[in-house]
Amino acid sequence: KKESLRGAVPLSHFYLRQVVRPGDLVLDATCGNGFDTLLLAELAGEGGQIWAFDIQPRAIAATRTLLEREGRLAAVHLLEVGHERLAEFVPAGLAAAVFNLGYLPGGETSLVTDPVRTVSALAQAAKLLKSGGILTVALYTGHEGGPEEAQAVHEWGASLSPREYNVWCSRQLNRPPVAPYLVLVERIRGGSC
Ligand code: SAM
Repeated sequence: KKESLRGAVPLSHFYLRQVVRPGDLVLDATCGNGFDTLLLAELAGEGGQIWAFDIQPRAIAATRTLLEREGRLAAVHLLEVGHERLAEFVPAGLAAAVFNLGYLPGGETSLVTDPVRTVSALAQAAKLLKSGGILTVALYTGHEGGPEEAQAVHEWGASLSPREYNVWCSRQLNRPPVAPYLVLVERIRGGSC
């Protein structure tokens, strides 16, 4: 069922539903409570493969519990590893990569994504996208360090070649400036890299 497009995460899900097909390879760089991983697992199906990273044991446990309950664990590689190491585990050919930044809702607010690791992971994931594949980044600026991380993501996005990637920024104009927003990257079909 279609979600209301209220906020960055539902907007990312809207795009993921357009792009991810059964059998696809996909990545969740910050699995948290597992909601994005579950959507990816549903879209990629039993023939797909999903790599899901988080540094918090309780996030990995929460994601495992959700996927088990929904019968979607089999196709998912759950990794208690920082996403800055993702290229060691994930092959090329991704249809989608999802980054939902910030901290785990209801969790330890000090265990937050940080600009250096985030940009490293984004660069790795963008290289692993197949032609037509997308990368979504939900950005939060309301917590300490959030504006700096958003700035780093903007600089990274702006540095990508327009011949190889389309890079978008979507904000809700009728919500406060600190509302979460979405950066969307598409690897152009037939791009030169
Ligand atoms: N996608 C999740 C969901 O659907 O529930 C929410 C993700 S939450 C906003 C951000 C997550 O990023 C937290 O669970 C946090 O532990 C994780 N995180 C922080 N630094 C990380 C890193 N270097 N590598 C992987 N995950 C990280």
